[in-house]
Order: sequence, then structure tokens, then C-alpha cells
Amino acid sequence: MTAIAVLGSTNMDLVAYVPKAPRLGETVTGTAFRAVPGGKGANQAVAAARCGGEVVMIGAVGADGFGVRLRSALAEAGVETAALRTVEGASGTAHITVDGEGANSIIVIPGANGLVTGLEAGDDSRIGAADYLLLQLELPLEAVLAGARAARAHGVRTVLTPAPVQPLPPELLDLTDLLVPNEHEAAALTGLTDPHAAARALLQDVPEVVVTLGAAGVLYAARDRRPLTVPAPRVRAVDTTAAGDTFVGALTVALGEGRPVPEALRWASAAAALSVQRSGAQDSMPTRAETEAFAL
Ligand code: ADP
Repeated sequence: MTAIAVLGSTNMDLVAYVPKAPRLGETVTGTAFRAVPGGKGANQAVAAARCGGEVVMIGAVGADGFGVRLRSALAEAGVETAALRTVEGASGTAHITVDGEGANSIIVIPGANGLVTGLEAGDDSRIGAADYLLLQLELPLEAVLAGARAARAHGVRTVLTPAPVQPLPPELLDLTDLLVPNEHEAAALTGLTDPHAAARALLQDVPEVVVTLGAAGVLYAARDRRPLTVPAPRVRAVDTTAAGDTFVGALTVALGEGRPVPEALRWASAAAALSVQRSGAQDSMPTRAETEAFAL
């Protein structure tokens, strides 16, 4: 079993469905509302646990009803939550408006996530006991750096999802073993819109890169081998929320099991393709059995 620590965010996604998004100063009547557990850290943790990883989540929820739900959603997926603190104040929330065409706009309020500024007692040994540490950028950068330093000190491999995209400090790049941007993030980080060129540029900073290309699949690049593209399975996508997080969680599980890179990429692409055929974020993530069957 792949042992995975996730140091990252938990958010309650508050989704308002509207025929047309309101303009500034305008009030519109929506058609539906859903509150669903999300946050990139929690999403990756749930994806990895469903795919058969042994996962611990490190982070914080607020002392409110959302915090209780965020914790129980992780626990129900089989994620260990002893290192998920409950801190004073509100849980992280994402206020999402989805219009009639499926286009969205999002306000994220970090809440408890913003109070995670470093590691707490026990976190260093939790990270040290893992095969992989998954990191994203929805926690303060000091915390992400502290986690990455702990991982390196223990010889634990780090996988960084650079979202929301922002300039990456050189130290964080030095501590990253595998960087997994989507094509927009890869372009923002390098100024290069061609994913092959962007991946090549990123290899100057990190040893391995996977650029996710949506329905077009993924591009893998490493310093010591030829780049590899893996097309995505052709499916009818109904909701691509958390597709990237599903991919990262599944990929890490597969790599930790010692599957060769091309097979691990295909396996993770199968998991992500299953997730886009169902609506929701964590709700849409496939089990290991579903992924195995679809990856054949
Ligand atoms: P993000 O969700 O971070 O924006 P992408 O849109 O690149 O990232 O999606 C991540 C991965 O999810 C893709 O590399 C692919 O494996 C899978 N995926 C996304 N959209 C589709 C789709 N329409 N059909 C099949 N697989 C998809």
C-alpha cells in the first residue's frame, strides 16, 4: 500500500446554480444550491484513499458545522484525520457560481486554512512515515515549505500541484520531486503556451513534470528520458471539477506501488476520466476496483 501524507486545504464548496451570473450590483434568482466538501488538499487525499492509498491529512478546519462535515467526509473516504486540527473561527469556503453554460466564478475564503503556517507536533513524523507528500498552494507558503523541507529531510518524495498558480520560490522548486501543473498553470509558470516547451523549461527546476491537458490527456517529462504523452480515455464529461486532483491522487498511489511510469499515467488517467463522467468533486472520485476495471 502506498503511504501518502497530504499537507493541504479543506474547503466547503458552496455552489449556486444560476441561469446567468449576476453583474456588479445585480441580484438574480438561482435554480439550486449545493454545499459539498472540497479544497485541493482534501480532494487529493480522498482520491488517493479511494484508489487504495493509506492517506493521512494534515491541515485545519474551523470550529463550525462545515468543519465537522469536512472532517467526516475525509474519514468516510478512509483518510486518517488525527492531524487535521480544529481551529477557532470559520472553515475554508469556496463560493462558486455556475451559470447556465457551465461557466463558473469562484471566491475562496481560506478561513482555517490560512492559519496553517507551519508543522505542528507529530506532523514531522507523519510526513517521515509516508512514501509521498502531496502539496498544493491553498495553504500559506510557509506551511508548504515547512512540509517540503520535512519530506526532503526524511527522503520522502514530494508531488506539488502549483494551484492556485503563483510564482514559486526557488527553495520550493528545489524541494519538489514531481510537479503536476495543468496546461494553464504550466504556461503561467513559464510564459510558454506550448506544453512541451513549458515542460522542458520546468525541467530546469524540477526533475519530473506531468502537464495535464484536460480531454487531451497528459504529457510526462523527466530529465533523463524522452517525453511521453498519454491520451485521455474518450468519455462524455459532465463535470470536470477536481479532475486534476483525482489524477494526482491516483498517480501517486500507482507510482508508490512500483508501477512503471507509463502504466501509472494510464491508471491515473482512467481514474480522472471516470471522475469527469459524474458530477461533484469528492463524490465523483472512483474506487480502486472501478479504476482497475476501466484501466484494462
Ligand atoms: P485540472 O482539473 O487541474 O484543470 P485538467 O483539466 O488538465 O486539470 O484535467 C486533469 C486530468 O483529468 C486530465 O489530464 C485527464 O486525465 C482528465 N480529464 C479532464 N477532462 C477530461 C475529459 N473531458 N475526458 C477525459 N479525461 C479528462
